Amino acid sequence: MCGIFGYLGKKDNAMEVVVKGLQKLEYRGYDSWGVTSDLDGELFVEKKVGKVSEVKLEDFRDKKTSIAMGHTRWATHGGVTDANAHPHFDTERKIAVVHNGIIENFQELKEELGKENFVSDTDTEVIAHLIAKYRKDNPFKEAVLKAVKKLKGRFAIVVLNVGENYLIAARRGSPLIVGIGDGEYFLASDIPAFLEYTQDVNYLDDNEMVVVDGGVEFLNLETGEPIKKRLVNIDWQAESAEKGEYDHFMLKEIMEQKETILRAINQDEDDIMHVAQKIRDSRGCFLSGCGTAGKMCMAGEYFFSMIAHRHVNYAPSSEFKIYHHFLRPESLLVVISQSGETADVLEAMNVARSKGAKVLSLVNVEGSTIARQSDFSLHIKAGPEKAVASTKASTSQMALLLLIATAMIGELQEGRRILVDVASKINDILNPRFLTYIKSVAEKIKDHENAYIIGKAENYPMALEAAIKIQEVSYVHAQGFAAGELKHGPIALVTEGTPCISLVANDEVRQDVINNTIELKARGAYIIGISPENDDVFDEWIKVPDVGVASPLVNIIPIQLLAYYIAVLRGLDPDMPRNLAKSVTVK
Ligand code: GLU
Repeated sequence: MCGIFGYLGKKDNAMEVVVKGLQKLEYRGYDSWGVTSDLDGELFVEKKVGKVSEVKLEDFRDKKTSIAMGHTRWATHGGVTDANAHPHFDTERKIAVVHNGIIENFQELKEELGKENFVSDTDTEVIAHLIAKYRKDNPFKEAVLKAVKKLKGRFAIVVLNVGENYLIAARRGSPLIVGIGDGEYFLASDIPAFLEYTQDVNYLDDNEMVVVDGGVEFLNLETGEPIKKRLVNIDWQAESAEKGEYDHFMLKEIMEQKETILRAINQDEDDIMHVAQKIRDSRGCFLSGCGTAGKMCMAGEYFFSMIAHRHVNYAPSSEFKIYHHFLRPESLLVVISQSGETADVLEAMNVARSKGAKVLSLVNVEGSTIARQSDFSLHIKAGPEKAVASTKASTSQMALLLLIATAMIGELQEGRRILVDVASKINDILNPRFLTYIKSVAEKIKDHENAYIIGKAENYPMALEAAIKIQEVSYVHAQGFAAGELKHGPIALVTEGTPCISLVANDEVRQDVINNTIELKARGAYIIGISPENDDVFDEWIKVPDVGVASPLVNIIPIQLLAYYIAVLRGLDPDMPRNLAKSVTVK
């Protein structure tokens, strides 16, 4: 959560570069923003509540400086106010700090530093005051090193000290990436911020610090010793992080699923076999993730059961801790995360490792913390996903899980064939006529405050995922249920005209789901059937191709579109849902 961005280099419009970079990071936080620079020894600051995407870049063009940094916030401590927007400063306003994370001992530090000197309610401000305290008797670098030793919690910070022409960044728990350009350096929470300038990066690891002046120097935060880092080349194209012809990233990313599934399954055969073997050999395999990635893990649980006849356990990462009783060195944890930085997932990994268990991961951001901290990691290759609501990353995650399940029974080629077929059928359905029809269905249900979704077997996780998609972008109260569970309670919620979406695959449970749908209809529900075949019970029929066991991959597509159109028709911005942020780096 939150985006931080720092620039130092040959350009003389550093503030404009920073604001532009922040606009690319806005998906990480968008309640307020701020930028600061050293303009000939004078601190320049602009910070306020609002969206950084609405800021005019030309307002910063004539501020000639080659050093600047900024922040787009997702508040954790202190309300959304101008004063709480980052950067934060020491009392003399010489030291500026932008921060992603939570300083857990901020209250204690605030007392120590004299809380009457504080002008914001954030936890972040203590960092600036602490550095200023140590700066009195130490060079800037040592002052930062000393200050961060006092911090408890998670942070990625960038610090600027007026009059000293360099930036210092440090991390423990929150992401920070160093972009190495031609005579210029970038410090950012995520790669799209600087992708138009360079594809060469160094990932800062936990307990590392970087000093950026005419070059970069990496240091260990504990010892202050220099460290060597590996330069990584990112194979993303700058335009893949742009909206292009689309109004929103969410729609663009839904449409990209024509290609992303093919990219996901284009994996080294040995890598897939390695993962399949590890799952087979493990004694107690857990799948874990958060939010949408968690629902994909649940789908994986069904794929492993139906295809490979193998039992795996799904647990949301935020709940994983309690499973430590069942973990031992032969256990395996497979985690899924789009960003590769999800704090709850990292915690689950720590729990597994503390018991000697191995960790495998499926991530979209190569080189991310989760990828680096895993024993083995597969890259899902969906390209930058910028909309907060995950779409293309989730179908890629499912595709890989299905592929691994087939590999476990020696049917990898058959798995590939199924998924190539899925990709081509998704390509067929994502046509203008299909989109227009889904939009017309969205129009019919957009004013309802409640919607229910049912699915069974491998489509039960999709019912849950459908609810997340609709809730997060359109704020309609949507809930997903296992179709057979309805009669045990939830059916009491259905009244005349309540929209109910029924996921009906051509599988062995088809008739059960149809029967449950009939029960809903009998209570007055307005039935939207997502199915390869029509049925009398449907008021609306969204026809999807029949892809056998891979049905969750096609069934979720119309729901993503439905959620998107409901949001747009309700006048909402689906890319930036309220209260949410992409890449949840707080617990
Ligand atoms: N804890 C800090 C705040 O609330 C930073 C939050 C963030 O990561 O955006 O201001």
